[in-house]
Amino acid sequence: MQSESGGSPWPGQVTVRELADGREIRYFDDRATDGPVHEAVDTRPLGEPPHAGELRLDVLTGEWVTIAGHRMNRTFLPSAADCPLDATRDPARPTEVPDVDYDVVVFANRFPSYAPLVVGPASAGHPEVLGPPDRPATGHCDVIVFSSDHQASVVDLPAERLRTIVEAWAQRTAELSADPTVAEVFVFENSGEEIGVTLSHPHGQVYAYPVVPPRSAQLIERARQYRAATGSNLLADVLAAELAERRRVVLRGEHFSAYVPRAARWPVEVHLAPHRDVPDLAALDDAERNELGGIYQELLRRVNRFHPGIDRVPYISGWHQAPTGEDRKLGRLHLQLFSLLRAPGKLKYLAGSESGMGAWINDTTPERIADRLREVGV
Ligand SMILES: [Zn+2]
Repeated sequence: MQSESGGSPWPGQVTVRELADGREIRYFDDRATDGPVHEAVDTRPLGEPPHAGELRLDVLTGEWVTIAGHRMNRTFLPSAADCPLDATRDPARPTEVPDVDYDVVVFANRFPSYAPLVVGPASAGHPEVLGPPDRPATGHCDVIVFSSDHQASVVDLPAERLRTIVEAWAQRTAELSADPTVAEVFVFENSGEEIGVTLSHPHGQVYAYPVVPPRSAQLIERARQYRAATGSNLLADVLAAELAERRRVVLRGEHFSAYVPRAARWPVEVHLAPHRDVPDLAALDDAERNELGGIYQELLRRVNRFHPGIDRVPYISGWHQAPTGEDRKLGRLHLQLFSLLRAPGKLKYLAGSESGMGAWINDTTPERIADRLREVGV
């Protein structure tokens, strides 16, 4: 079946299985096959599934803070031989993935910040005059593993694998958004030990938050004011303005374009947005999904080449999607890709002004960042 814009559909297949503690695991295969697949059983004695922590309101800022004390015990930089994201190649060393091989897998994090299961009441709140009581940190935290190869890197994966990753992003966004307790779905990837990655195996995450996170709330408020004043979508007009000015545009595809935002706050930062108004990854059609993986890899490649003398740059990449609730029309899908690396061996620390006051100071200019990201393209 062809989509309206003529793209061919994803040729893969999804198989849903269950882990020993009841968490679901989804195998996304690059290509569909006949017959049963991924029938291996999780043999670990895991006990009960993880449960939700709690949310407390910071009454001074109005922001919810997630208290997830159980995450202190999570796996931290295991040796390659103990990697929980590998396939279970040796039955004596079962991992999070029961089968002997896979293309892409998605499962609920064993040490989640948000979980659907609530155990007991949230802790007693402060006096009511100071705001609402604590609430359980319900939601979902998915891990998406991009390859069974521990040493692989997203930039080097084949095109058909990127297509599968995009499919997993889109399908999980749709499924998690359908949960009425979910306010927003955030698809993201942290790469590089420098920024606190606890597992080096190539993977990303999906957080389904029970409340709209602070950055989104701020963006939605700005978009609301803009719509009241102009009748237009703020993010759509930002993209149009960047494409018209061209000064900070890094690349233009058929369905997506990338630009450095006018007020970039990180030493390396680029945004990627679809040309069509869509709220989230789930709303992308086949032609858009087919193009996205290649453009994403190209941006990562350029970020990796950004600083002379090194070929890997730690990065954070996050898909900002529209909230699921009544403000959905104010949001618009876009990717924010950035690095804290100012120069080889030098990280930008979020010091007094940024951490204490949220007042950002960028030591370079967005125009210089754009020049460099164009220069290192091929
Ligand atoms: Zn691994």
